Amino acid sequence: GKGGWKSFDERDLLISYNALKVLEARYLLKDPNTLRYIETPQMMFRRVARHLASVEPQERRREYEEKFYEIMSSLKFVPNTPALMNSGTRLGILSACFVLPVRDSMTTKNGDGIYDTLRAMALVHQQGGGTGFDFSELRPKGDVVASTAGVASGPVSFMKIFDVSTDVVKQGGKRRGANMGVMHVWHADVEDFIKAKTGELKDVQLQNFNISVGVYDYFMNAVERGAEVPVITPRKTKIPGTDYDYYIVRARNYMDEEWVQEEILRELEERGSIYLDESRIITVDEALVIAEREGAVVKWVNARTLFNEVVKGAWDSGDPGLLFIDEINRRHPAWYLGKIQATNPCGEEPLLPWESCNLGSLNLEKFVVDGRIDWNGLAETIRYAVRFLDNVVDANRYPLRQIEEATKRTRKVGLGVMGLARMLIKLGIPYDSVDAVFLSYQLAKFIYYHALHTSVELAKEKGSFPAYDPVRYRDIWETARDLQELLSTAGVHGEPSEYVRKLTAEVNKLDFSTLKDMRLRYGLRNATVVSVAPTGTISIIAGTSSSIEPLFALAFIRNVAVGRFMEIDPLFLDYLRRYELDTPEVVKKIAESGEVGDNPFIPKTIRKLFRTAHEVPPMFHVLHQAAWQQWNDSGTSKTINLRSEETTETVERVYMTAWKLGIKGITVYRDKSKSQQVIYFGIKK
Ligand code: UDP
Repeated sequence: GKGGWKSFDERDLLISYNALKVLEARYLLKDPNTLRYIETPQMMFRRVARHLASVEPQERRREYEEKFYEIMSSLKFVPNTPALMNSGTRLGILSACFVLPVRDSMTTKNGDGIYDTLRAMALVHQQGGGTGFDFSELRPKGDVVASTAGVASGPVSFMKIFDVSTDVVKQGGKRRGANMGVMHVWHADVEDFIKAKTGELKDVQLQNFNISVGVYDYFMNAVERGAEVPVITPRKTKIPGTDYDYYIVRARNYMDEEWVQEEILRELEERGSIYLDESRIITVDEALVIAEREGAVVKWVNARTLFNEVVKGAWDSGDPGLLFIDEINRRHPAWYLGKIQATNPCGEEPLLPWESCNLGSLNLEKFVVDGRIDWNGLAETIRYAVRFLDNVVDANRYPLRQIEEATKRTRKVGLGVMGLARMLIKLGIPYDSVDAVFLSYQLAKFIYYHALHTSVELAKEKGSFPAYDPVRYRDIWETARDLQELLSTAGVHGEPSEYVRKLTAEVNKLDFSTLKDMRLRYGLRNATVVSVAPTGTISIIAGTSSSIEPLFALAFIRNVAVGRFMEIDPLFLDYLRRYELDTPEVVKKIAESGEVGDNPFIPKTIRKLFRTAHEVPPMFHVLHQAAWQQWNDSGTSKTINLRSEETTETVERVYMTAWKLGIKGITVYRDKSKSQQVIYFGIKK
């Protein structure tokens, strides 16, 4: 390969001790009989590269295998866990993210009844995928079950069954199942849902779920005004003489938008039942009148009271988060395929029912070369990474026909990042600064541009995604907010420095409108191209900080499935050495709290540069998430880490500001508020 890396062993030297531990425990293949390892890390990357190159035409396979191997083994790009674990093995799922529909029925012909979905979930978890669900179509607790004249137990009780199943499947001991449970704010059981994981249920109920309330602009506006909003029983909204169950409830928030009207007409046509003539689309108010008449409105609640409950829950236990359903759909490039109601477990993938998405992340740290950013290297890596991810769609073996069909229809892929915090440190930029937010913004723009560009080139070579509609496809870059707007909405003042402007000057050369012309001419291979995932495990494998998060702690104990690791950040150790502060006493002291804090014996530069997740002011967490979301056609996963003494007012401000910044979903986690987190966690000593 390039750069003089000739043998396997040499490249293995890039693998850190912790990475090796993780790889050994769960990724490297073993002989099923002797349980002895049959591969080294390099052999793993080789296996993955070969598998993903195998869908290329015969004569190009070798070349792409080399490229894929090169970007992975140099740790510049690492695909999501299922691709590493399952490529070339009997297990066929290579994607991490799935959204499954849940209809209000035990089973259905389409396979999306409650127990059909339960089965689908088990199949996905078994192979290492994570699943998200919108439970809002299930009739509320106490409602009538016509076939048995019994009483419904409500969505939360069904979620408990999904939770237990997740525990039982445990993904063959390799990866624990993770879920996102969503309920939309108009649902009659929303108050129960909000409290499903807090108070005395904290650390007890739905431990394999992150939960999020799906909110809309109408609701957030009502919160600001202190107005009342109705909560509704979905089942009872049926319009007489039609099979038109959920439409009023679902569409009522969208009536003003032309595309919804189109969607409703199409749906009515398909169902062969005409209730409204084409010239008369009902308004939100009319929908409510019908809902009232049908007895669907259970009650009116004060939006602010409901919102306060959400905030209290999130402060208390980290759940629920919020999903901003309008923003998600407004900026969904393939909006014309239907309305997105849910996301995968960590929020980086808002998906249509049955869709899956595979992820992979660039290791930003690797692109800092001599104090500069290697933009060319980054662009080239993006090119192969997107091709790799696109190949995953074909190389995947899907557990269900519906998942295969939905996924191949849009071919969504999600290129993300990791190592942002460490890149910033290497460039001498504190995470909680306008410069850092600016850099995030510029990087996101650059990565999105090149990912989209690659997808256009792939379309030219291999064809567009089947559901591509050149006219209706929505270019999300056209609605990206500018940095100044983000800063002022968050109440942060300042301008990026000359230094960081120079560092990112390359980004100003990008020409999106020419790219759009190319898209119109050649098509597009993937309905979405980027996504910022948490990179919980692959960042350990790559030996860098996770995703776009600040350093979690400078020294900490990391609990993973295979054991406990003490870690001292190597960059931090370097800095201590520079100032001759790397004495056992200093290191021990820092390990105790995980941070330098305002320790007067540590130089100010270090203190500023190495501010950890709990020291970074919440608004800077939010701003980084907003910056990355602007240039992202799917979602940005982020945990807004708060100090344990933060109040509910902080949570409220974070949630409100997130909505105003056009973020698609938001979660907070207050230090020590739970005994453990769903997926992975570090425990500060
Ligand atoms: N995920 C999962 N179980 C886990 C961790 C992750 O199902 O224990 C899924 C989930 O959909 C999550 C996605 O994988 O949103 C990406 O998570 P992450 O980036 O942390 O995964 P990695 O590839 O680093 O293992």
